[in-house]
Amino acid sequence: MHVFQQKPLTQWLQSHPLLNPIIAHQELCWFNPKLRQFAEIVETLPLGTADIRDAADRLQRFAPYIVQAFPDTAENGGLIESPLVKIPTVQQALEALYGLSLPGSLMLKCDSHLPISGSIKARGGIYEVLKHAETLALDAGLLSLDDDYRVLATPACRDFFAEHSIVVGSTGNLGLSIGIMGAQLGFKVCVHMSADARQWKKDLLKSKGVIVVEHPDDYSKAVEQGRLEAQQTPRCHFIDDENSQDLFLGYSVAAQRLQQQLNQQGVIVDAEHPLFVYLPCGVGGGPGGVAFGLKQIFGDDVHCFFAEPTHSPCMLVGMYTGLHDQVSVQELGIDNKTCADGLAVGRPSAFVGRLMTPLLDGIYTLEDDSLYRLLALLKDSEDIALEPSALAGLPGMVKLLSEVGQPYLVQKGLADKLDQATHIAWATGGNMVPEQERSDYYATGKALLSALKA
Ligand SMILES: *Cc1c(COP(=O)(O)O)cnc(C)c1O
Repeated sequence: MHVFQQKPLTQWLQSHPLLNPIIAHQELCWFNPKLRQFAEIVETLPLGTADIRDAADRLQRFAPYIVQAFPDTAENGGLIESPLVKIPTVQQALEALYGLSLPGSLMLKCDSHLPISGSIKARGGIYEVLKHAETLALDAGLLSLDDDYRVLATPACRDFFAEHSIVVGSTGNLGLSIGIMGAQLGFKVCVHMSADARQWKKDLLKSKGVIVVEHPDDYSKAVEQGRLEAQQTPRCHFIDDENSQDLFLGYSVAAQRLQQQLNQQGVIVDAEHPLFVYLPCGVGGGPGGVAFGLKQIFGDDVHCFFAEPTHSPCMLVGMYTGLHDQVSVQELGIDNKTCADGLAVGRPSAFVGRLMTPLLDGIYTLEDDSLYRLLALLKDSEDIALEPSALAGLPGMVKLLSEVGQPYLVQKGLADKLDQATHIAWATGGNMVPEQERSDYYATGKALLSALKA
C-alpha cells in the first residue's frame, strides 16, 4: 500500500509540482492531460452502455415496489429522480460575487431533493441494495424477473431478508441510503460511520432499527471496519464504496435520465452546444458513475469536472500522480478535515480514477469558506438549501471561465462556443438536513459573505 513512500516527498514535489499548492491547501484547477477522444477509447472501457441499461432495467422492475414503499416517488412512477432547473439568478449572483461575466446557461441538478434519502447516494446506494435483494430472492425462488416486485413486501420475503445482513462504511449519506432501503426490505443493516458523520444521520438510522457503529477515525477506517465485520458474518453483504461496480452503475443511470430532462427542456447538446458538468467528489463512485454515463451518451460534447475540498483532494492527488488508491492525502500531510462531510475522503476509490483517466476533463478544489458562501448565495437567490458538500459543483462555471480555464477552453476549441454552452452544477445533497443545522450553515455562509463585502 505504501507506493507513495518509495520515493521521498521532495522528489514527488519536483516531478509533480502541483503537489506544492495542493499541500498548501490552495484552491486550484487541474486539467487532465490524459483526456482522450471518446471514440478512440470506448472499445477499451471495461463497462459500457449494456451495463448501464441493465441497471436502468433493474430500477424499472423495482418501480412498483418503490412506489408502494415510498409514495413520494409516485410522481416519477417509482423512479428515484430529481428536478433539473435553470438558475439564472444564481448565475447573476455568481457574476457579482466573482466579478466575472458568465456567458452560457447555468442549471442545477437537484439530487439534494431525491426522494427517500435526499442525496446522490439514493442512486448508487439504493441500487446496490435492490440488486442484492433481487439476486437473493431470485435464487431462493421467491421472485421471478417478470413478477410484480411488490411481492417483495410480503411477509414471506421480509422474513427471508431478515435472515440476511448488509454492512457499509460511510461518511453519512451512503449509510443513510442503504440503511433506509435495507431496513424497508427487512434486512439487518449495520452502518459503520466515520467521525465526520452528522449526529442527525446516525439518529435517523437508529430510529429505523439500523445498527450504527461510530468510529473516531475517518472514512477509510470506517470502511475497513465494515469490511472486517462483513467477512466474519454469515449471509452478509458488504457494500464496498471503495470498489463497488454496482454502486457505480447505479449512479450511471442518472445520465440517461438527464438526457431526457434536457430534451424535454429543449436544451441542445452537440459539438456547437457543449455541456459542462461539475460533480462534487468524495471517494469517486457517485461523480464517476454519473460522468461515465454522460460520456457514453454525449461523448466529446460533454465535459466533466470533479470538485473536492482543499482539505480532502484525494481524487486529484490520485489521478494527478497516477497512484490512485496507492496514496492518501494524509501521506501528504493534508488532514482530511472539512465541513463538506460527504466529501471527507482521504483515499480515492480503487477503480474510478483509473476508469476515468481518459474521460475526465479535470478537477478543481474549494476551501470550506467558499462552500459556505455559496450555500448562503444559493439560499438567498433561489431559496434552495443544500449541505456544504453539495455546493462544490456550483462555482465550476466560474473556475472554467476565469483566467485559469482559458488555455483549456482554447485548446479544446470551446472558447467561441461559450454563449451556447450549458453548465450543470450537480447538487448532491441537503434536503434532509434538520432545520437547526440548516440555519447554522446559512449563518456561517452569510457572515463570510458580508466579511467579503466589508
Ligand atoms: C457521497 C457524496 C458525494 C460524492 O460521492 P462519492 O461517491 O463519495 O464520490 C457528494 N456529495 C454528497 C452530498 C455526498 O454525500
